[in-house]
Amino acid sequence: MTRTQVFAQLPFDSRIFVAGHAGLVGSAIVRALGRHGFSNVMVRTRAELDLLDQAAVQRFFAQEEIEYVFLVAGKVGGILYNASHQADFLYENLTISANVIKAAADHGVEKLLYTGSSCIYPKLSPQPIREESLLSGPLEPTNEGYALAKIVGLKLCEKYHRQYGKRFVSAMPTNMYGPNDNFHPDHSHVIPGMMRRFHEAKEQKAGSVTVWGSGMPRREFLYVDDFAEAALVIMDRYEEPTTINVGTGDDVTIRHLAEQMQDVVAFQGEILFDTSKPDGMIRKVLDVSRIRELGWQPCVGLVEGLARAYSWALRSGKLAESRVATETQAR
Ligand code: GDP
Repeated sequence: MTRTQVFAQLPFDSRIFVAGHAGLVGSAIVRALGRHGFSNVMVRTRAELDLLDQAAVQRFFAQEEIEYVFLVAGKVGGILYNASHQADFLYENLTISANVIKAAADHGVEKLLYTGSSCIYPKLSPQPIREESLLSGPLEPTNEGYALAKIVGLKLCEKYHRQYGKRFVSAMPTNMYGPNDNFHPDHSHVIPGMMRRFHEAKEQKAGSVTVWGSGMPRREFLYVDDFAEAALVIMDRYEEPTTINVGTGDDVTIRHLAEQMQDVVAFQGEILFDTSKPDGMIRKVLDVSRIRELGWQPCVGLVEGLARAYSWALRSGKLAESRVATETQAR
């Protein structure tokens, strides 16, 4: 398959801005654009362009004549950090979304892709979660601030689409993992958190490692480079105002994940489960019929993805450091 067959609508010399290029998702999108030969990709560090500063964002869009925007910037963090900083999560994500979407609308951007997250669907959504579940019930209280901001971002794209005919679309990814993830011991999501714990247990030659919860909950995991491929497909040919789920459609138990992690990290000891830690939702998996119809499917299986993520984490030194579990302009 040639490049042009893959991305028929997206010219290879278009001026593309990736907002949030340093994070898990943004860095994967930059890698994917590079792989496919897009030659005019723009990124800005936070010091160069503060996305919370509306005037600066307006100036940037006025000067740079940007044609395509991947808006994956935002404040992210695991459940603990999210729950205790809800005002910051709400304000920062809302402001970044509003500033970038408005500037894109004002300055003639051809197309914009915004990303939500499967955790902004209602707490009690029927599984697998369909796109129609959005706003159909109460949110998970621990990340209400984050979810509200992201829902507004999604809806802002939809409203610009419907009112002004803007090609602003949004994607709803499942749990992603990979290079540039947050490997904080307590504030991260399950894959990087568990990877750190297994790695440390191996280093310390411990007889056992403890995994949070009962091991029974089921989760769906997507390697972030697969998501980036989906993001390019959506940018190329998804034109609906409503969001589109991106996931594998398959889920595994946390116990299964732990067993795979044990193999990948080559930890010899026993796996214990700490049932005093919360399980969270018993199941969270997306209905992926729509994205399948667009012709995308994931290529990186869980074991291969874990191996790649582990290798990146070792090379980058992320498992050696203990850092604060938040990154603006990330996932
Ligand atoms: P969730 O998908 O929003 O529930 O977010 P998480 O990724 O934080 O957790 C998913 C599941 O993994 C929950 O059932 C956790 O109890 C379980 N889990 C097991 N070990 C860990 C760990 O080391 N870190 C985290 N965050 N979750 C873990």
